[in-house]
Amino acid sequence: MLPFARVAIIGMGLIGSSLARAIREAMPTVAINAHDASAEVRARVAELGLADDVADNAGTAVMDADLVILCVPVGAMAAVAADIAADLAPDTVVSDVGSVKESVARVLGTALPGVHVIPAHPVAGTEKSGPDAGFASLFKGRWCIITPPPRADAVMVERLSEFWRRLGARVDLMDAPHHDRVLAVTSHLPHLIAYSIVGTASDLEEVTKSEVIKYSAGGFRDFTRIAASDPVMWRDVFLNNREAVLELLGRFTEDLVALQRAIRWGDGEALESLFTRTRAIRRSIIDEGQDTDKPDFGRDHPDAD
Ligand code: NAP
Repeated sequence: MLPFARVAIIGMGLIGSSLARAIREAMPTVAINAHDASAEVRARVAELGLADDVADNAGTAVMDADLVILCVPVGAMAAVAADIAADLAPDTVVSDVGSVKESVARVLGTALPGVHVIPAHPVAGTEKSGPDAGFASLFKGRWCIITPPPRADAVMVERLSEFWRRLGARVDLMDAPHHDRVLAVTSHLPHLIAYSIVGTASDLEEVTKSEVIKYSAGGFRDFTRIAASDPVMWRDVFLNNREAVLELLGRFTEDLVALQRAIRWGDGEALESLFTRTRAIRRSIIDEGQDTDKPDFGRDHPDAD
């Protein structure tokens, strides 16, 4: 039996539209209601046939759904929860895909008392936004972290887990604060560093912008992929995972100063030992199936004649 019969997706950007495509592929009999704040996005969703019903407002979209998934930026969760509160059917599960979990759990729990609120975060994405950027296989082989509140209904948690497994994801359960600390390390800090490096390089006066772009294959361009990620989404991530990110940033700054010292004092041993350790981490990511083993991320290198 399918875990849910009718899913309402609020926010039809990269993640929402990928979800709709993945549901269509994995559970074709599940009905999909969709809503997005943008009329342009709603029109595009209808044109692409991503939903059975595209509603002009969030309340209408959730009315007959047994699962509602909020796929909007973290800072917009409170407004959407207020929009849908009066229209939810009894026993509907309300979940989300936000990249931060403690603040989202708090906001949804407050706005939706008595509702089965079970926050989640599929750890899968790209640097693109909008309904055309989505694709059905986005969640395949990736982890979806579900963060059930302390008194969550175990049956509902299992139904939501099964829903994500059917989309090809692997499911882990953890508490929201722990999720936020883990993601601060694996996602939030790397994004902050990428935003910072790309910003610094583009501000340098003695090296021209065209040189930075021209010679970017030396490493810079790999940071630019991350630094091209959605500005609104990432603004909200840092505003909502402040403590964990600031704590980690303190650690990172100290480690960076240690590297600065090693370079200044010509401590090659310290540098080599760190770089050997980091190379092993790349190996474990590949062994876990979380990235390709192909050199240079599998980019095309046509034979030069
Ligand atoms: P996106 O492509 O920008 O899509 C978000 C969509 O939500 C936009 O179409 C936006 O419309 C709409 N929206 C904003 N406020 C709304 C509201 N109040 N009511 C209804 N719709 C609203 O962003 P995304 O990458 O899919 O991210 C969505 C969520 O997924 C975020 O919480 C993010 O943290 C999480 N997430 C993202 C990734 C990733 O790699 N991108 C990975 C995992 C989780 P407008 O454009 O008009 O504002």
